[in-house]
Amino acid sequence: MDIFAATFVFAMLAELVIRTPLIKRRKSEKMSKRLVAGQEKSFLFLLWGGGVILPLLYVFTTWLDFANYTLPAWAGWTGIVLILGAVIVFWRAHADLGLNWSPTLEIREKHELITRGIYSIIRHPMYASQLLWSVAQILLLQNWMAGFSGLLTFIPFYFLRIKAEEQLMMEQFGDQYRSYMQKVGGVFPKL
Ligand code: SAH
Repeated sequence: MDIFAATFVFAMLAELVIRTPLIKRRKSEKMSKRLVAGQEKSFLFLLWGGGVILPLLYVFTTWLDFANYTLPAWAGWTGIVLILGAVIVFWRAHADLGLNWSPTLEIREKHELITRGIYSIIRHPMYASQLLWSVAQILLLQNWMAGFSGLLTFIPFYFLRIKAEEQLMMEQFGDQYRSYMQKVGGVFPKL
C-alpha cells in the first residue's frame, strides 16, 4: 500500500468515526416524514460499491491491478490535501447538523432548520465534501476502476438527491428555506 492509498483508507476510517456515533444517537429519534424513492435506494447501493467496495479491493487485493495508472507525485499530494479538506468539511457538517442528519431524505418530529456554522457558508456541505472526496479518489487510487468509481456513482446521485431534498425542505420550512437559499450557496459559497 503506498502513502496515497494509505491516506485514503485513513480518511475512510476518520469518516466512520465521525458518523457512527450519530447513527447510534438517531436510533431513538421519531420521524415524521420519510422519502425513500426506490431509485434512491439503488443509488445508495451504487455509492457503496463505487465509494467503498472497489477502493478496498484496489487497496487490499491485486484483482484490479490490470487497470492501474501512474500519476506524477504532485497529483497524489494534491489528492491528500483534497481528502483532508473533505474530511474536515464532513466533520463540521455532522457537528452542525446533528440529529437532523439522515442517510435518506427524512424529517424528524423535532426537525430544526440548521443555518449556522458551516451551513451558513453552503447549504450542502456533506455533498460538497463528497465531491472533493471523489476528485481526491482519482488522484489517490491510481486505478481506472477504483479511482473513477466514486465520481461516476456520485454524480447521478447528487443531481437526483439535491433536487428532491430541496423540495422536501421547502415543503417543510417554506419561506424560511427559500430565503436561506437566496442568501447561501448550494455546494459552492456565494461570492
Ligand atoms: N444536504 C445536506 C444534508 C445532507 S443529510 C448536506 O449536504 O450537508 C440529508 C438530510 O438532511 C435530509 O433528510 C434533510 O432533511 C436534512 N437537511 C438538509 N439540509 C438541512 C438543514 N439546513 N437543516 C436541517 N436539516 C437539513
